[in-house]
Amino acid sequence: MLFDPRPKNSRKDLFDREEELEELKKAVRRYPIVLLLGIRRVGKSSLLKVALNELENGIYIDVRELYFSSGGWITVDSLTNALERALNSLKPSFRRKITEALRSVKGVTVAGVTLKFESRVSLPDVLNALNDVGVIMAFDEAQYLRYYGARGGKEFLAMVAYAYDNLENMRFVFSGSEVGSLHDFLGTANYDSPLYGRVYGEITVKPFSRELSREFFRRGFEEAGMKVEEKLIERTVELLDGIPGWLVEFGYNYIETRDFDRAMESVILKAEKFMEGELRELARRSERYILILKAIAMGFDRWELIKDYLEARSGKIPNPRLANLLRNLEKMSWIRKVYRDGTKRYEIVDPVVARILRKFSRQAGL
Ligand code: ADP
Ligand code: MG
Repeated sequence: MLFDPRPKNSRKDLFDREEELEELKKAVRRYPIVLLLGIRRVGKSSLLKVALNELENGIYIDVRELYFSSGGWITVDSLTNALERALNSLKPSFRRKITEALRSVKGVTVAGVTLKFESRVSLPDVLNALNDVGVIMAFDEAQYLRYYGARGGKEFLAMVAYAYDNLENMRFVFSGSEVGSLHDFLGTANYDSPLYGRVYGEITVKPFSRELSREFFRRGFEEAGMKVEEKLIERTVELLDGIPGWLVEFGYNYIETRDFDRAMESVILKAEKFMEGELRELARRSERYILILKAIAMGFDRWELIKDYLEARSGKIPNPRLANLLRNLEKMSWIRKVYRDGTKRYEIVDPVVARILRKFSRQAGL
């Protein structure tokens, strides 16, 4: 069902994206490492899951989930457990092959078709064995791997570099909503990174165009046996800007309520819930990030305006520090630079996030 709010698993539930799907599959055949990029809720996980399903030798690990469930620090043990869970949830035919390949690895026990990793199992040994089968390891929201181990994920990258250089049947897909953070983390252009100099494929998932968004709604409502006015579709597309996650949320709620305002309110509430963890994470790193986002959301979108807004609320801030915060927000894909009337301005990438920020600001009386 198109308006199902969970990530999609099969092509029949995926609207459009045929090109991206083919591109992704082609890239995985061609490159040991593929990056799948795009803003939050644009449909990366869906695309990834559908592709892995069709390729039939993929293993999916949600790193964001792993990060939050292991309390903000990903240990070797938690990654090993996640891998064990992922392997045990594979389709029987593929799982059988994997089980055979891993049977002889130290620290792996096999009971029937269920794998068990003991804590002494070595991940490089596991990769070596998986290479015999030929496996795609997909890490969703991989920028969170910078919280793996004690050295900002370096041990993980060293493992990937080893596989890249030695295990020719291994493939890695890293998806990320924080485009710049993921690039920084992998560091293929950075001399100090274990992955320095490695070549990778890259695919960017974009929001739907206005026309595609309208078509998406028509198709979704039709599927639900509902006739909806073009005017309403038009208005919704205007507000949600082609981000599939929000379109789905609206469609799903509109079918339930048949009321524009209530459906839109549900989108906002859902978005708030979804963004809560990420905004908290951001605030933990610096409260100023949140203030900057609020400033931009409220239209204080130029350097001096942002600076004034910030200094009135949290004291003086040196220019290099502000530049750094803005650059980081860009890397995390919260904001982007635009040039209007010859001036550099910033805008919030996702209009729903901008609305939430404005709402928070009003509530806090900022
Ligand atoms: P991301 O991983 O980029 O944050 P998801 O894949 O989780 O995005 O998608 C967000 C929501 O949008 C999910 O509810 C998913 O079902 C829906 N969605 C995304 N892309 C499509 C698509 N092409 N067709 C139908 N629904 C989609
Ligand atoms: Mg996702």
